[in-house]
Amino acid sequence: MATNEAGEILYEGKAKQVFATDDPQVLLHRYKDDATAYNAAKRGSWEGKGRTNAMMSAAIFKYLEEHGVPTHFISQEDETSITTKNLQMLPVEVVVRNVAAGSLSRLIGIEEGTPLSAPIVELCLKSDELGDPMLTHAHFRELGVPEDDLMFCEELGLRVNELLTSFFDEKGIILVDFKIEVGRDPGGELMLADEISPDTCRFWDKETGEKLDKDRFRRDMGGVEEAYAEMLRRVTG
Ligand code: UDP
Repeated sequence: MATNEAGEILYEGKAKQVFATDDPQVLLHRYKDDATAYNAAKRGSWEGKGRTNAMMSAAIFKYLEEHGVPTHFISQEDETSITTKNLQMLPVEVVVRNVAAGSLSRLIGIEEGTPLSAPIVELCLKSDELGDPMLTHAHFRELGVPEDDLMFCEELGLRVNELLTSFFDEKGIILVDFKIEVGRDPGGELMLADEISPDTCRFWDKETGEKLDKDRFRRDMGGVEEAYAEMLRRVTG
């Protein structure tokens, strides 16, 4: 379709490119096989990564829409590309956790793998320069992010967590934690944006505990290409 052809490149990061299209309200996101970790200190690449991230995001955004969650997703264009609404993004990364891992284990000193008594939502400032620090509502207020937007982020995070915890459970996967982002459309409506993939979630096999996400790359565990392929298989059947 002419409206969805890639036009001017608006953004290029390690893991994806974002293009304008003929429609100013529509963006095309193309996912690449390249990866970074630890604020770009570590770099790598593996086959099928872009395909997994695009196809899994498309499948999950569709599932969430069907369950009443507003998302930026419009369509899957090909195996590595999706189109989305062009949103004004909030400078917030919303992290939701069900099991202690990664930075939470370091922050409060509980062993990785410890189930949390209730989900924890963290709001972090999207800033490579500052290393995406976790902030309080008062800090965000100083930066001009309204309280209502923060409340929306927290409620959305918990709703997405509820839906995706059972979605992945049926596929034999524990959703340990994940990160989402939120944007506003020209009409003022806030909605889920960015991606949902093994780059942005921790997925552990329910039976074996095996990690099936980007931690295999971050921690040099090997088998990262196989893990991404397995997660795509579980999600898309
Ligand atoms: N995450 C992400 N992007 C970031 C930081 C975290 O997608 O810039 C995801 C990460 O994949 C994990 C969750 O958010 O699923 C929590 O990450 P954590 O804070 O534990 O970070 P880490 O231990 O990786 O530094």
